[in-house]
Amino acid sequence: MKTFTIGATLMLALAIAACDPPDAMPDETADVMNAEASAEAEELLAKYTSVTLNADLSVLTERERQMIPLLIEAGQAMEEIFWMQAYGDKDALMASIDDPGLRRFAEINYGPWDRLDDNAPFIGGAGEKPKGANLYPADITEEELEAAAEANPELKSLYTMVRRDDDGNLVAIPYHEYFEEQMQAAAARLRQAATLADEGGLRRYLELRADALLSGNYQPSDLAWMDMKDNTIDVVIGPIETYEDQLLGAKAAAETYVLIKDQAWSQRLARYAELLPALQDGLPVPEDYKQETPGANSDLGAYDAIYYAGDCNAGSKTIAINLPNDEEVQLQKGTRRLQLKNAMRAKFDKILLPIAGVLIAEDQRQHITFDAFFGNTMFHEVAHGLGIKNTITGRGTVREALRNHASSLEEGKADVLGLYMVTSLSEQGEWDGDMMNHYVTFFTSIFRSIRFGLSSAHGRANLIRFNYFKEKGAFTRDEATGTYRIDFDTMQQAANDLSETILRLQGDGDYDAVDAFVGQYMVFGDQLQVDLDRLGEQGIPRDIVFEQGLSVLGLESTSP
Ligand code: ZN
Repeated sequence: MKTFTIGATLMLALAIAACDPPDAMPDETADVMNAEASAEAEELLAKYTSVTLNADLSVLTERERQMIPLLIEAGQAMEEIFWMQAYGDKDALMASIDDPGLRRFAEINYGPWDRLDDNAPFIGGAGEKPKGANLYPADITEEELEAAAEANPELKSLYTMVRRDDDGNLVAIPYHEYFEEQMQAAAARLRQAATLADEGGLRRYLELRADALLSGNYQPSDLAWMDMKDNTIDVVIGPIETYEDQLLGAKAAAETYVLIKDQAWSQRLARYAELLPALQDGLPVPEDYKQETPGANSDLGAYDAIYYAGDCNAGSKTIAINLPNDEEVQLQKGTRRLQLKNAMRAKFDKILLPIAGVLIAEDQRQHITFDAFFGNTMFHEVAHGLGIKNTITGRGTVREALRNHASSLEEGKADVLGLYMVTSLSEQGEWDGDMMNHYVTFFTSIFRSIRFGLSSAHGRANLIRFNYFKEKGAFTRDEATGTYRIDFDTMQQAANDLSETILRLQGDGDYDAVDAFVGQYMVFGDQLQVDLDRLGEQGIPRDIVFEQGLSVLGLESTSP
């Protein structure tokens, strides 16, 4: 077992700040302090609402049901790894927090920093979250790391922890060595699950994934995952996304999703992927801005999630996944986009509908439907494949050219082009949703996403769109009721205009032009702030936490 500097230092700070004083002070003072801590905890916990994560398991064979506990156990190993990557010693942190509410909030955040509040510390003495979390020594600077990486590129590898040796030099320790105990445990469970897998593609993937956890070579298992087509159970497991590493964006954080595929929906989705090239042709921009061929080999599927662990379970919950990240695998096999239906449903019921109840004109509320929300989210994911990845002005890729504005512009593009896709497919008779439902639901979701804050690319994209729509008259606000009403035709025109604007900005790759565009529209009006505050006052949560595991699934008796 390794020792963790941050955890130990914090423990000490907390022991001084929180644990000792109550004994030394009069009872009344201690009571007041405790009451303050629980009041604070209550306010923090109100940001989340609890949701039971279950699904219809009757679609599984008996042997598939027996796989679920094994996959969840494998997932728990990723949970342990993520705690160490994000913070350090979980047990020491928990033992140092007296208030049960604050302990619960630390669990949700995988550490003492509030992920929905730009990582503000909520435990006395926690200090600022290191940019590289616990993936690097806390005192590291980007300059030091870059310099050391010249001689040792492994320091910047996706799959290494960076530590200091006894002389203070930076060393890279592969995850499969640093987290050997957890990787071994997870690999053993995946192998056991593989023996129960009757579908060849899934069996092969589970075996190769187990190998990968132990070797650090993930590519063969990523390829096998893309080849797997007829499975009902899926598991996304391992070190995967790099968001936790705010220092370099280089290190992958551990996570797990255990998923049940919705075969009927997945077949419908496969059809839309085939229509992408035709939709690309119809984009409302000149030829040059749509000359790339969209990924026709992208694979779309709908799933119910039954277990989240680690990175994807920290703070706000992911409702759609696009993997793998390995660009070589992407070139060979494309990517798979997974829509997590039950998690989306939970956000719809617990967040979007209550927002509509406060901010949307009463007679338009009937147009807010789950089908429209699911469709909009699904087409958002598909729409990432439309448009272009490279500038048409010789400025390299759109991402390189637009730097810090690249991701908010890309998310904004996917939102409006998703709406364009729904509209086009509906006109072609490929989609039978009521367009008014899609538009009102889309508009309501803008408020939901702006609440993610400006540290989120989605939050920024939605604020830009809100102000753009406002300027175009796509909606009006009624003073008396404090509610918003969309104008269907104006909003449709505004969405098309915004699509064209974003596609051109991306294609031109002109950073200054994008900076001016963002500066013009990424502003918080007073009225909007007042209306968002009303959502908080009404106790509408910003995100969800899951009650999950074998007991929720009714599987405890089959646990090995
Ligand atoms: Zn997106």
